[in-house]
Amino acid sequence: MVTRAFYQEAVERLPREELNALIDERVRYTIEYASTHSPFYRSWFGAHGIDPAAITSHEDLLELPIISGKTIGEHQPPFTNEFMFRSVEWEEVFTIHETSGTSGTPKSFFLTWDDWLRYAEKYARSFISQGFGRGDRIVVCASYGMNIGANTMTLAARDIGMTIIPIGKCTFPSQVISSYQPTGIVGSVFKLLHLAQRMKEEGLKPEDSSVKRLVVGGESFADESRAYLSEVWQRDVYNTYGSTEGTMCGECVVREGLHVPEDLVHLDVYDPDLKDFVKDGECGRAVLTTLIPVGSHAGTLLINYDTEDTTVVITREPCPCGRTHLKITNPQREAETVWILGTPVNRVDIERGVFQRGNMTYLTGEYEAFVYWGEKEGETTLRVSMECADPSTANREEIAETFSKSFFKYKPALSRAFGDGFSLIFNLVGPRELELFRVKGRPKRLVDRRA
Ligand SMILES: [Zn+2]
Repeated sequence: MVTRAFYQEAVERLPREELNALIDERVRYTIEYASTHSPFYRSWFGAHGIDPAAITSHEDLLELPIISGKTIGEHQPPFTNEFMFRSVEWEEVFTIHETSGTSGTPKSFFLTWDDWLRYAEKYARSFISQGFGRGDRIVVCASYGMNIGANTMTLAARDIGMTIIPIGKCTFPSQVISSYQPTGIVGSVFKLLHLAQRMKEEGLKPEDSSVKRLVVGGESFADESRAYLSEVWQRDVYNTYGSTEGTMCGECVVREGLHVPEDLVHLDVYDPDLKDFVKDGECGRAVLTTLIPVGSHAGTLLINYDTEDTTVVITREPCPCGRTHLKITNPQREAETVWILGTPVNRVDIERGVFQRGNMTYLTGEYEAFVYWGEKEGETTLRVSMECADPSTANREEIAETFSKSFFKYKPALSRAFGDGFSLIFNLVGPRELELFRVKGRPKRLVDRRA
């Protein structure tokens, strides 16, 4: 069923032409703001011979250079005296955040209260597009801290009239569910699968709980793992994608891609190999530009920032939900991609093979994969380890066949090299026997061990 509720209906349903006009007005203001408030962009415009006044529409952004997380890291202490990306006076900075990203070097982000309100608005639109509203009670399992997500979701709730239960992790007593009767939970696919498992062990059925819908985010996942989560809980599962840089995109009830709040963040898709932007429907890196409403301030603004996440613009046509803002596929982290014989293999490709419906009779969903050099020169081995409730009863051949069929479907070159340069090995293990359970912090599920 399609919801007709909106957070900012006038903006969310703007016809394309008017939406583009609003975007272009904000592009002009943002560029002007950058040239007067951001030490980094002031010198960047100069160094690249860019006349800020000549940038008048979002199409003009395609002609400008790309910056990356590395650029931010190199323009802050200890490399420079000042934080070159800070674009307001210190007195106006409300919070400071750090993200480590893939490089490991922390990047600093400065947020004003205006930034907080805009970030919260993006989540508010997303929650409402998923059917949440006044009176809903949401458990937020996403962690509070230097990340912006959980905090801004909490602020979003205030404007919708929802209650937030800010637990910040998924390892909470299931009594939280029975006592407070939450109607939604925000977490990751795996955290929500674990929670369901724990509830069942304690005699609570997820499908009989007060929870009406689940929101997943914070990492990329395969459609198959989402489908399995949905089956375990007997609830719809909605996707969100957010980052400290300010991309907060949410999937509406139609669930065919995530809406980008186009009036608040501009997104283009770039191919680093081609060194050019790609057309809608083609895969590339999401490159974002902050859009500041005329008259507002931003603590950190970014122009043509490479998120290092890959995505595809699905459509700019109006959505059946009534929103006109474009939709993208679930972004995948480039840092989770390894290359095998010229073919990119993302962690999600492995996850898809694991979560094939037939496999889930035997598997828990927990997995890890390693890439090694094979015994012969130039040979590559991908070893996939999967956790089973009971490995002795698992049908190894069936799991291997189901996985391989899914894995090779979109990887014809690897399929051709199978048995001759590429080998795929499966390893079924018992509960808690995967290597990742012995690693502290966020587990890496696809590890390249070719030295
Ligand atoms: Zn929609």
